[in-house]
Amino acid sequence: MTGAASQAGLSRHPCYSHAAHSRCWRIHLPVASECNLGCNYCERAVGGLSSHGHRPGVADRLLTPQQALAEVARHAGDPDLAVVGIAGPGEPLCQPATFETFRLVGAAYPKLMLCVSTNGLLLADHAERLRDLGVKTVTVTLNTVDPTIGEKIYAYVRYGGKVLTGLEGAELLLARQLLGIEKAARLGLVLKINSVLIPGVTRAEDLAEVARTAQRLGAYIQNITPLIPLGRFRCLVAPSSEALGEARSRCESIMRQFRLCRQCRADSVGPPGREPGRAHREGNRAV
Ligand code: SF4
Ligand code: SF4
Ligand code: SF4
Repeated sequence: MTGAASQAGLSRHPCYSHAAHSRCWRIHLPVASECNLGCNYCERAVGGLSSHGHRPGVADRLLTPQQALAEVARHAGDPDLAVVGIAGPGEPLCQPATFETFRLVGAAYPKLMLCVSTNGLLLADHAERLRDLGVKTVTVTLNTVDPTIGEKIYAYVRYGGKVLTGLEGAELLLARQLLGIEKAARLGLVLKINSVLIPGVTRAEDLAEVARTAQRLGAYIQNITPLIPLGRFRCLVAPSSEALGEARSRCESIMRQFRLCRQCRADSVGPPGREPGRAHREGNRAV
């Protein structure tokens, strides 16, 4: 474990430590609804019914920062609560509510670890602010380091008042992601790289390139997750568990791998995999 990683208390982070996954838990605060990216596998759902109820991008309702603080207060007495995360249901870094929520929660509960998930487009712009707010861990979804693959995954990229599509959009996104990862790592944030295995789009060797690049830039761990076929990718099929295992094994020789992820909702509360209400929301999940 690197100095920054051990300081961050990763042994109690369920998304960074296999041992912690069964004994510690995170609370997700769904304060961020908008997004600046058009991932072809995305289908956000707030409230109502969703065919895949237990997955990223889904929340029963949105919270204001004050409501989010109250939600943390309801659970703060549980000694197994270790992490307060913001993971959507949209892109946390394009919304002021994310930063205000971290400010409120960090001031009231300094012992809880603050964590955020991002598509990385705005990470370079906000890495210092996150560090200053006390955020310790950042997950960046980096699916490819090849813009010719990226243009198949992202329908559009919204940045600096412009909407870019195709190769141009994919190149901009990648450049911003790499800059953000490098900067955040340099500032001492501990980075997890989420990469989606998308049959016919991102092969194991492509994800190995992602691992190589992320490792070089200072990221700590990679979490390869299976495609949940939704949105514009609803006609694709999820990878088999063998293909998923193969991709993880291939990347393991390059970078530490997280293997237990079951892809949490944006409002998950409780021990991973045993959240209240999970059974009736499970739907036909990919793995
Ligand atoms: Fe959906 Fe997240 Fe992609 Fe935005 S970055 S489109 S919320 S998956
Ligand atoms: Fe885990 Fe991501 Fe949530 Fe952090 S934001 S607790 S890494 S799922
Ligand atoms: Fe984190 Fe995935 Fe576990 Fe949820 S299932 S707590 S996102 S590692």
